[in-house]
Amino acid sequence: MSRVSEASVSAGAPDGCRHDWTRSEVLALFELPFTELLFRAASVHRAHFNPAEVQVSTLLSVKTGGCPEDCAYCPQAQRYHTGVDAQKLMSTDAVLERARAARDAGASRFCMGAAWRSPADRDIPRVAEMIRGVKALGLETCATLGMLSGRQAESLRDAGLDYYNHNLDTAPEFYGEVIQTRGYQDRLDTLALVRDAGLKTCCGGIVGMGESREQRAGLLQALANLPAHPDSVPINRLVKVAGTPLADDDALAELDPFEFARTIAVARLLMPRSMVRLSAGREQMSDELQALCFLAGANSIFHGEKLLTTANPGADHDRALFDRLGLRAMPMPGKDDNVTPTATSPGGTVHADIIHSDRFDHRVSDAPATPHPPRSVAGVKR
Ligand code: SF4
Repeated sequence: MSRVSEASVSAGAPDGCRHDWTRSEVLALFELPFTELLFRAASVHRAHFNPAEVQVSTLLSVKTGGCPEDCAYCPQAQRYHTGVDAQKLMSTDAVLERARAARDAGASRFCMGAAWRSPADRDIPRVAEMIRGVKALGLETCATLGMLSGRQAESLRDAGLDYYNHNLDTAPEFYGEVIQTRGYQDRLDTLALVRDAGLKTCCGGIVGMGESREQRAGLLQALANLPAHPDSVPINRLVKVAGTPLADDDALAELDPFEFARTIAVARLLMPRSMVRLSAGREQMSDELQALCFLAGANSIFHGEKLLTTANPGADHDRALFDRLGLRAMPMPGKDDNVTPTATSPGGTVHADIIHSDRFDHRVSDAPATPHPPRSVAGVKR
């Protein structure tokens, strides 16, 4: 058996990535022996990225709570009694103060989240002002505001928005167990409008909500078979917030940590060029599980005291973890030539000679260890 199965790594699409994964193919990856799966994922990861670098984002809730949707995991839904106080849209000055602090703490991307089903047209100029301000600080910008119209997406793009986050959340066939106030197709439609506007997409989901392994495979299949792979793929691990239906479900067992690492590894194999992000739920993960996830191909995290409304690991803890693991923050694209080393053939296939070369070791030993602060969040990004 080849060390990296070509079928699991690449294909003939122009971007070198496959968009035609079948459920059984994805499931077969999940069912590989754990060490084999991680080896394949780690090999693909280092063929497309420097595995010693982790992209660091900060997520700020710029409008909290009071959301009319019914996402069963979400403390910001107004119909659940979770103790989250609804707050109006923050002032631009307050947002920029937080963005400046995030930049000074090492973040390269600043994400702004608002608990809306969709923004009203009157809200767009204020969000656009925030985007322009954050951009002027030298940060990449991301927003997650709910469903968008095409014109809203274009206005945000014109303001300087780099990424728009809109998650699929779970597999199509499990989606109705979690959300009923908007459909899967609504999400796909917003993603299409965002792509059409020329924005980069951030799109992932949540695991540990009671879905089966096949349904976890279904989420990753849906993400990988989008017309373009999301540039960022946040993988959230359910945070049970008291008052939400999923927290009140006593029968809902916590997802096995190895299964979570498998999910990260399969995401890396299916979407080799995307940033795979550890998102909500990192506060509850052991350092060892996070390290396993970095090995499996995760290369992005959120840092900051909170993820929307839930807790995130502290900056000091994350800095110490990066130190212990010899990891460092990924520079912003364009600020460092070494950001995205690639070692692939034109078709994106990983060569065994590259996988087993010592290039990575030189890169790491030559590089200054400048770790960096991430930390926990407690809301699941949409
Ligand atoms: S996840 Fe987003 S859309 Fe769903 S209830 Fe929470 S804030 Fe609203």
